[in-house]
Amino acid sequence: MADTPAYPTDLQLYIDGEWIGRGDRDVQAVVNPESGETLAELPLATTDDLDRALAAAEIGFREWRNRDVNERGAMLRKTAELLRERAGEIAPLLTMEQGKPVKEAIGEVIGAAALFDWFAEEARRAYGRVLVRPPGQRSMVLQQPIGPVAAFSPWNFPHFLMARKLAPALAAGCSIICKPPEETPACAAALMKCVADAGVPGNVAQLVHGVPAEVSSHLIASPVIRKLSFTGSVPVGKHLMKLAAENVTRTTMELGGHAPVLIFDDCDLDRTLDILVPQKFRNAGQVCVAPTRFYVQSGVYDRFVEEFTSRTEQFTVGSGLEDATQMGPLANARRPEAVGALIDEAKANGARVATGGARYTPTGKDGGFFFQPTVLADVPLEARIMSDEPFGPVALMRPFDSFDEAIEQANRLPYGLAAFAFTENGRQANRLGDLIEAGMVGINTVGISSADAPFGGVKQSGYGSEDGIEGLQAYMVTKAVHQA
Ligand code: NAD
Repeated sequence: MADTPAYPTDLQLYIDGEWIGRGDRDVQAVVNPESGETLAELPLATTDDLDRALAAAEIGFREWRNRDVNERGAMLRKTAELLRERAGEIAPLLTMEQGKPVKEAIGEVIGAAALFDWFAEEARRAYGRVLVRPPGQRSMVLQQPIGPVAAFSPWNFPHFLMARKLAPALAAGCSIICKPPEETPACAAALMKCVADAGVPGNVAQLVHGVPAEVSSHLIASPVIRKLSFTGSVPVGKHLMKLAAENVTRTTMELGGHAPVLIFDDCDLDRTLDILVPQKFRNAGQVCVAPTRFYVQSGVYDRFVEEFTSRTEQFTVGSGLEDATQMGPLANARRPEAVGALIDEAKANGARVATGGARYTPTGKDGGFFFQPTVLADVPLEARIMSDEPFGPVALMRPFDSFDEAIEQANRLPYGLAAFAFTENGRQANRLGDLIEAGMVGINTVGISSADAPFGGVKQSGYGSEDGIEGLQAYMVTKAVHQA
């Protein structure tokens, strides 16, 4: 691909309006998942850096909450504009550090811009209400910004998921310290640069990296932080909720899932495959709402497995920087290990590998984190992969007979983020919408994430919603003012 920008070698933190380089800080290597080679060294925040960020966030909040909401909205709109202008420069950086194809990376940056646009408008709609009282008296319910926020976002959508916290916090009038993943710092810095260039003060939006456990325990223990927002794995989310309990800090937790896909024999099979195959392998399957457990009605099971498999075998895997690539490497060295171990265990339990199932080197170079797009058929329920989120390019298939059985299977795990179903029967579709235990249900679609719709899980998939009007409320507290 032409015009690939150089990866920045001067990675920095952004604290109290200052871009801060390595100095005598510890560093962590940023690795290119396509080759395993080091791209740059990332400075890690010291305790003093974090204390400085906390002090700035406290002052920044006092000023920012009092800004005219139209001014805040204008800065968010400007951020969106800058993101769209710079998408072509930011996307290859994201690809170099995360692996996804550039086309997907551009979509991620444009998606982040859409969040800033949405919350620029929503900022004005933080309505309260006035209660009915005798003449001369007033009781009002006010929505007010909650206070400084600590936001932890993961490496699978490192740009978009940071924006999903940053935009609503700023819209609500909060200051925010972002701690995006250490694996993908350049696209996070590029986002923060847009925010700063749009005029948001440097003590209002800040960026730190560090040892995750150290940063989170330090920030969450501080009385300055009034809100914790985390996207990542269930175990880390539970741990952070315990830390937050100490100061009764409010949390939003988006903790992933293990999405079921119910394929009924009355579905439009070609259209269903057109939708599901690319969606399964988007971002190499490292998506919290990725379609994962395919339960297929017996009448169409064999045909579905066969056609899904043959389409999977046509998928072009390679460098994310190549135009033709449909799937890049996995994001870090942990992923192929974890995915491979789950597949081996499933095979030992009787699952049939319809295609894929192993690491490989499509670029001809060793050292990358590639894994074959994989279809496992007849996967027994006892296999760990049917309960542990594979978070990789693996589709799991099982047949079912009745509607009730399908619902039972869909709801059998302690997770409930996304679920999908494909049927042409409208009455059945309504019942699916009612009965599936998930925060988002896609019927005949996988389009379940948009700026105006709440996104979040039930059961152990999380707590609270992002996006939508709920996404703004997550950064506000309710106050009742009574006046006689
Ligand atoms: P992990 O559990 O080590 O980390 C998950 C995320 O949490 C990472 O971004 C990491 O930097 C962060 N983290 C880890 N410990 C932390 C701490 N003490 N304080 C603050 N942040 C902390 O797992 P991983 O290997 O990075 O990812 C593996 C699993 O995580 C996946 O299998 C998937 O289930 C889950 N995951 C979910 C999402 C999502 O969008 N919900 C995103 C990424 C990963």
